Amino acid sequence: TRVRPSSKRCAVIGGSGFLGKHLVEKLLDRGYSVSVFDIRQSYELPGVTFHQGDLCDKQALLSALKDVSLVFHCASPAPASDDRLLFERVNIQGTKTVIQACIDAGVQKLVLTSSASVVFEGTDVKNGKEDLPYAKKPIDYYTQTKIEQEKLVLAACDKMKGFLTVAIRPHGIFGPRDPQLVPTLVDAARRGKMKFIIGDGTNLVDFTYVENVVHGHILAAEHLRADSPICGKPYHITNDEPIRF
Ligand code: NAD
Repeated sequence: TRVRPSSKRCAVIGGSGFLGKHLVEKLLDRGYSVSVFDIRQSYELPGVTFHQGDLCDKQALLSALKDVSLVFHCASPAPASDDRLLFERVNIQGTKTVIQACIDAGVQKLVLTSSASVVFEGTDVKNGKEDLPYAKKPIDYYTQTKIEQEKLVLAACDKMKGFLTVAIRPHGIFGPRDPQLVPTLVDAARRGKMKFIIGDGTNLVDFTYVENVVHGHILAAEHLRADSPICGKPYHITNDEPIRF
């Protein structure tokens, strides 16, 4: 699909992160001009304008969102932290701020990076669809606040006002420059901590290659229109078959 030139200005909140940088690179390839909003700047790239700030700061966001019609929100504190107040501040309060700043700045589309863990109750999910209910007992504060965040973003979808939202739910993301998933597994293996099997060896876990996750985000953004059934909906994203773990 070709998008109108006026809709080729976008912002990536969390664009300095693992997924964010891959997304920025693909957006540049597709002819978008990109602003990155992040609390840290991790690289420089021609065609990218950096805005350093905290997404809980509406004024800082507003200056980064000037003339932007499409926003990707893929910022979050690292899931490994167990800092409840930080998750609540960034993922819940911060997401409210992002939504309000988008509306005030005249942004038309907001694509959220959610997580498949929002439907994980601690028991196996196989071929799970988007109609699964949100987890009643989320496994940690990260997941609890990702649920609240997703609800906020999807509820903000308003066709009458011309503000459209969608959420993409990856599970584990792997690929070049992954700072977390594979390095943590390799480290655990080196320290001899991978000698045990939890369960009978048939547990499944879902990993998705980072470029597929990026592709899903861009498809969602480019198909998000007032007459589209994807408005206000979440979508799981996967590589097809889960990996036996
Ligand atoms: P990452 O830590 O590499 O990137 C997150 C970015 O958010 C960082 O650059 C960080 O500086 C920024 N950030 C954090 N707090 C901020 C704040 N207050 N203001 C502005 N920027 C802030 O993480 P990632 O793996 O790229 O994850 C991106 C998104 O994908 C997150 O929403 C995460 O919940 C989701 N997700 C990731 C995975 C995975 O396996 N990596 C799986 C499912 C969902």
